[in-house]
Amino acid sequence: MGGLTRTQERTLIAVKPDGVQRRLVGDVIRRFERRGFKLVGMKLLQAPEKVLAEHYHDLKKKPFYPNLINYMSSGPVVAMVWEGYNVVRTSRAMVGDTDSAEAAPGTIRGDFSVHISRNVVHASDSVEVAQREISLWFHSSELVDWDCGSHSSLYHV
Ligand code: UDP
Ligand code: MG
Repeated sequence: MGGLTRTQERTLIAVKPDGVQRRLVGDVIRRFERRGFKLVGMKLLQAPEKVLAEHYHDLKKKPFYPNLINYMSSGPVVAMVWEGYNVVRTSRAMVGDTDSAEAAPGTIRGDFSVHISRNVVHASDSVEVAQREISLWFHSSELVDWDCGSHSSLYHV
């Protein structure tokens, strides 16, 4: 039964303004779909300052914080909730290291980013943080429970 719970794990993935401006939204979605995760929420929005302040509250004292907020406000983001077995850990691996120079080729950042300050995508870094971030960015009514049909059997191995 523990496996079933982990199957329903959810994470927040966001294509940041540079990713939207560079038309990388489709590529990011394609990677998560191909990997086998299920999209349960998605929207394009200009992130409100209050949401960004809450989202990055741990980084408030960092020297790069003002630039980070400017960057994240510089255009719309595409916020998504993806669901599936171990999705938090797996999506961090798919996104790659925070520092683009360390991000492995084949990861989103390793393929599309050269600098830590323009790293294309956000992914929650733990199950607890994911739950907090999902409720910050989405109303529960914006998340859709839907059936994967035969594909759900992939998880019952
Ligand atoms: N960031 C930055 N400079 C730094 C460290 C982080 O601009 O030296 C930005 C970058 O956009 C990063 C975000 O702050 O994605 C959040 O930092 P965190 O350490 O949480 O990295 P992430 O979880 O996004 O990999
Ligand atoms: Mg983080």
